Amino acid sequence: MSNETAVSRIGVLTSGGDAPGMNAAIRGAVRTAACLEIECIGIRHGYAGLINGDFIKMDQASVKGITGRGGTMLYTARSPEFNTKEGCKKAADTCNNMGIDGLVVIGGDGTFRGAMDLAHHDISVVGIPCTIDNDIACTSYTIGFDTACNTAVDAVDKLNDTMQSHERCSVVEVMGRRAGHLALGVGLATGATIIMVPEVKYDFEVDVIERIRAARLAGRSNFTVIVAEGAERGSDVADKIAKATGIDTRFTSLGHIQRGGSPHVRDRVVATSMGFKAVSLLAAGRKSRIVAMRGDKYIDLDIHEALSLTKEFDYELYKSFSALTFLDKNTLMQSFKDA
Ligand code: ATP
Repeated sequence: MSNETAVSRIGVLTSGGDAPGMNAAIRGAVRTAACLEIECIGIRHGYAGLINGDFIKMDQASVKGITGRGGTMLYTARSPEFNTKEGCKKAADTCNNMGIDGLVVIGGDGTFRGAMDLAHHDISVVGIPCTIDNDIACTSYTIGFDTACNTAVDAVDKLNDTMQSHERCSVVEVMGRRAGHLALGVGLATGATIIMVPEVKYDFEVDVIERIRAARLAGRSNFTVIVAEGAERGSDVADKIAKATGIDTRFTSLGHIQRGGSPHVRDRVVATSMGFKAVSLLAAGRKSRIVAMRGDKYIDLDIHEALSLTKEFDYELYKSFSALTFLDKNTLMQSFKDA
């Protein structure tokens, strides 16, 4: 069968921050390769492993039972060395020396930039978008986002119970250094008072303090502020709210628990499907592709095109959230007109 495919030996790696569903993507890729009788090599520790030859042989049995496991069985890493010309060349040389004629890279946009550099060394690469940030422009969904949102929502719901009992304000910092998609999802799903994201500029007094005061005057006695880590330090936000309003304010950083846990159904399904598609593309001789979602369909596009796009923040959804939270009729009417 392998002589019917464009590749006979492929490598699979996970890179950048880990996300729930990475294992399911690995399994989808490895099982598809096994089915097509393509030899599959697991590259451990991302691009660092590609430079150092940190390989394991993978077959059908080596990915048994991993679909529901968080983390990544191949480990992940950030490799400053790979980011240099020499490092990338070393990685490409390893591929050539090992007879790896196709590579599946699972990670975020940094991982894809690395893959593009490898493509310039004539290595066939296919990327699978996997990051809890959902910040990759070419795809409507990235593996891990749904599970991370659910993990954060579960924590905020619990915090809300105790904040309600004590009439406190809860400031919760969620991940998202450059993107607020996770914060927006979590804030909407938990009925937060305020959501702070890096994409929106704030006048702290007007957009945070006055709004909390307005909510208090309207009868609220507990408040939730969701802060993406790239918007402002959550602990600073909490200090300023306590000082300005006198409300007993507690700060929680959800930290790395957002990256862990058993992937939810959506992440398992998307990851498995994307793993399958990535290897199918390599088998068909396609090079330099990124697997993506448009609506509920799986597509693929050229890596250069994929990386030239910029992901828009969903300002409409953000504005609707504010309108519903603060019963802002004008904003809501405007969004009807814009729709
Ligand atoms: P996440 O955003 O979820 O952490 P990511 O894939 O964007 O995922 P990064 O740490 O940005 O994570 O990138 C992972 C690895 O990809 C880096 O350690 C580096 O080896 C490589 N990489 C990142 N950016 C580039 C770049 N501009 N050029 C070449 N390689 C890169």
